Amino acid sequence: MLEQLSQELAVLESQALRRRLQVLEEVLPGGRVRLGGQVLLNLSSNDYLGLAQDPRLIKAAQAAAARWGTGAGASRLVVGHLALHEAVEAHLAAFKGTEAAVIFSTGYMANLGVISALVGPGDMVFGDKLNHASIYDGIKLSGAQLLRFPHRDLTRLEDLLQKSPGHRRRLIITDSVFSVDGDLAPLAELVALKERYGVALMIDEAHATGVLGPRGAGLAEALGLTDRVEIHMGTFSKALGSLGGYVAGDRRLIDYLHNRARSFIYSTALAPPVLGAIEAALSIVAREPQRRAYLLEESEKFRWGLMSAGLDTLGSETQIVPVLVRDNGRTLEFAALLRQQGLMAVALRPPTVPPGRARVRFSLSAAHAREDLRRALDTIISTARQMGLGG
Ligand SMILES: *Cc1c(COP(=O)(O)O)cnc(C)c1O
Repeated sequence: MLEQLSQELAVLESQALRRRLQVLEEVLPGGRVRLGGQVLLNLSSNDYLGLAQDPRLIKAAQAAAARWGTGAGASRLVVGHLALHEAVEAHLAAFKGTEAAVIFSTGYMANLGVISALVGPGDMVFGDKLNHASIYDGIKLSGAQLLRFPHRDLTRLEDLLQKSPGHRRRLIITDSVFSVDGDLAPLAELVALKERYGVALMIDEAHATGVLGPRGAGLAEALGLTDRVEIHMGTFSKALGSLGGYVAGDRRLIDYLHNRARSFIYSTALAPPVLGAIEAALSIVAREPQRRAYLLEESEKFRWGLMSAGLDTLGSETQIVPVLVRDNGRTLEFAALLRQQGLMAVALRPPTVPPGRARVRFSLSAAHAREDLRRALDTIISTARQMGLGG
């Protein structure tokens, strides 16, 4: 078997698709890191608000560890449900504007748990083609039938809804901010469709939590649609700077998940230091709206700069800004040239993106200084020109 594995790796290598771990040697202020001895502006992190290094989160994590220990000791339904979990879930529900909420160990596990609890064989799930991998894995695990519609294509979705009556349960699932394109789901239209066809709607707000909406609760809050979406999923691992996934919604939904979501039931409760950090992050997000305002403002400038240089940012409307290159090898070359000039950006290749759609993705953070972003933009544009990208 090992021989076969190394052959497969060689094939990946020949297609410029082999991935390797790289050691991050140090995390520095201003959204910088040290990698291979070189200090780089980190444009690959999901720490959108710069909270992962915030002294207040670190202190809260330390305090929670001192009071409760480093581990919860058991799964939630056994004896792992600490007063800390109860408090954070109440805080989270208030933040999301829902009746109740439940925390999972990661966003990945939240998607696995909620989807496989709510649908099963004989049920039908309608999913945007660019949904996150964890949503696909949740659907696969559930045994429900998956009908994928082209990215943001409401006409095709409606076709599929019309052709699939009579199913026990039907559920539409979409990312709210798409992780590889940085664009938004057409949420208002999805809500109208799901109401017309009597289908439930679940949104994954992983990249929107802490970033979009007046209170930072996400796209549903931004559009005033919270009460018209049944299942709100998201994560604390991105803008909220630590770890853990959540589902928020009606009390009955959350009670049901306590009883049926296997990744909740059969896994140890989230550790106290992480909960301390989450609690602190929720407070900061509420009290410091200027962080998300700065992030969105700088992201808009950054996107306009790239588009003005003739680069294709794939309709991004957020802090996630891709630059389409298409070819795998050239995408790697683009990222390597940027790295030589002090910029860390990730080359996204298949299977993360469709074949022929390879790109370099830039993720902005409130930790980045205005001046650093301006310089990064200049470097990206001149490097793209040098490679013959754009107009
Ligand atoms: C990152 C991400 C997840 C998984 O969240 P983790 O907390 O990192 O496990 C789920 N959905 C989307 C859209 C994501 O971007």
